[in-house]
Amino acid sequence: MWIDDDRLTQEDFGIGTYPKKCPICGKDSIHLLMYRHSEMSTNGACWIWCSSCEKYSHINVTIPDWWDNYDRLGSDKLFASPEHNIDDERENIDKWVNKLINEKVDTPKEEPKSINEDKTLYVIKINTQKILTEEKAELAAQLCRCDKEQAINMIENHGFELYPMPAADISLVKKELEFKKFDFTVSPEYKW
Ligand SMILES: [Zn+2]
Repeated sequence: MWIDDDRLTQEDFGIGTYPKKCPICGKDSIHLLMYRHSEMSTNGACWIWCSSCEKYSHINVTIPDWWDNYDRLGSDKLFASPEHNIDDERENIDKWVNKLINEKVDTPKEEPKSINEDKTLYVIKINTQKILTEEKAELAAQLCRCDKEQAINMIENHGFELYPMPAADISLVKKELEFKKFDFTVSPEYKW
């Protein structure tokens, strides 16, 4: 009989080779399967189960980049408990998971060498603040692409988030905002 056991939620699933050692019964029979809900999503489900002592966990997880869904079991064939389908497939699932782990490349992100090479898109948020000068109102209108009154309203009520821009553009907008003494934040953290 399969029993849900929280001790199996601690599996470090990006490394090693399956089947792994079971923390409960000690046998090499821990298996892993994940399921990404949709191609662009990082949400999904995860099963960790021991085919010897029949303990398992079925939890929602953030699916890592390197994961590809195991194509022999669609969502219609996946159930919480491993006795339905996934334990029957465990040898093939182990092969699948081991292959994904082996192919996983941990390429460190290369730091861009110049502002023009930085492909990061930055977002400037003009924080909520009072717009007291005509100069500020003019720049606000320009950046928010609307008339001054609307821009003042937006910024005074909830601030305004500009569309994402590459570093080279951000540096110009940032200079103007600093010059006019706007309170703003840039994310991701801006370094140029
Ligand atoms: Zn076990």
